[in-house]
Amino acid sequence: MPAALVTGSSRGIGRGIAFCLADVGYDILVNYAGNRVAAEETAGGIRERGRKVRICQGDITRIEDGKRLVDTTLTAFGRLDMLVNNAGIAPRVRADILEATPESYAEVMDTNLKGPYFLTQYAANHMIALKEQGKIQAPRIVVITSISAYTASTARGEYCVSKAGLSMMTRLFAVRLAEHGIPVNEIQPGIIQTDMTGPVKKKYDALIADGLTPIRRWGQPEDIGKAVAAIGLGYFDFTTGAAIPVDGGFHMHRL
Ligand code: NAP
Repeated sequence: MPAALVTGSSRGIGRGIAFCLADVGYDILVNYAGNRVAAEETAGGIRERGRKVRICQGDITRIEDGKRLVDTTLTAFGRLDMLVNNAGIAPRVRADILEATPESYAEVMDTNLKGPYFLTQYAANHMIALKEQGKIQAPRIVVITSISAYTASTARGEYCVSKAGLSMMTRLFAVRLAEHGIPVNEIQPGIIQTDMTGPVKKKYDALIADGLTPIRRWGQPEDIGKAVAAIGLGYFDFTTGAAIPVDGGFHMHRL
């Protein structure tokens, strides 16, 4: 059975992705930073779906932890067919770009961009070797960015910059890995109901009701999970370096 490493899969979108990939036959490495209880819950859901699971704590900002996630996936399942770069954070404080701190910038960039960058580098090298050895046939890499990759929110500039950078990272690896038969694609979630958006729920309830998104509802983690599962099933294997919006239509300019 194919195996997937999903970073930040203890909660939210990562959990939705883990469940949807398990539904289509993937064994899963569940990664968390600090919330072991939530990771156990995700693992339970994967077992209920009849798939194998291994939990691994790891802080994505630490390059050595990222390598350990890949190594643990290989030890647990003997293969790595899919990497999903999902773990990410919002700034602790929504501060105006004229006041935001270097500390917040560093934390957000390390988590949302530097960690995934070097994790992808390490995982890609393993995928190339595994494919050459005939141990995997169709490795794939998915990057969870955001509508913030192209939407300016001046109260969380560091988040927008990190996601724009992550979007370029997707294209860089897509170009470099095409010759090895590894598609790399980006999914841009819109407004998704998770712990991350909990603090701004009322604000977004009103904006959605007002028509911010043509499809007037919150996105759910499974909405993202289903898109990742479609990639995992090979339905997008002639697509690489693409930014796939899963956002209720947010991305369209309207008049
Ligand atoms: P969430 O509910 O806050 O969950 C975040 C997940 O990432 C948790 O599993 C958390 O682990 C993990 N995590 C955080 N920091 C980590 C670190 N340093 N190392 C490893 N794991 C770490 O967030 P979410 O809403 O599901 O967001 C998931 C991804 O989607 C993020 O990249 C986010 O930017 C993106 N996104 C979200 C939305 C949205 O509206 N929610 C929209 C667009 C894009 P613990 O449980 O251990 O803390």
